[in-house]
Amino acid sequence: MSDANCLFCRLAAGEIAADRLHEDDEVVAFRDINPQAPVHVLLIPRRHVASALDLGESEGSLLGRLFGVAAEVAHREGVAANGFRLVTNIGQNGGQSVNHLHFHLLGGRRLSWPPG
Ligand code: 5GP
Ligand code: ZN
Repeated sequence: MSDANCLFCRLAAGEIAADRLHEDDEVVAFRDINPQAPVHVLLIPRRHVASALDLGESEGSLLGRLFGVAAEVAHREGVAANGFRLVTNIGQNGGQSVNHLHFHLLGGRRLSWPPG
């Protein structure tokens, strides 16, 4: 369920410090250590899922929780009205550097599209 070598498993377990905005039995949200926008929050499941490639129908409720927390954090951080981005990077070409599923919530500035 949790991997002792995984950075975000350890962060979820409280072994690594983070600026946490939300914690419940399934989901943790915390500020990215290297923010790319005025608001840059990461949302992760507590249990180890390597990436969105490992998601299926049985993770439907977990995804609902993750997106529900994202909406709540977006409101609380003041970016809901003007819009923001939720993105998950997958694998090498996707730019994934931590192999534990996470959604980036980016807001507080106009974001360009398409991404680089
Ligand atoms: P990825 O590149 O996998 O899409 O995103 C990983 C994110 O995790 C990066 O934006 C990086 O700044 C962030 N990150 C890496 N290590 C830590 C850490 O120890 N604490 C926090 N809060 N964020 C981290
Ligand atoms: Zn993990």
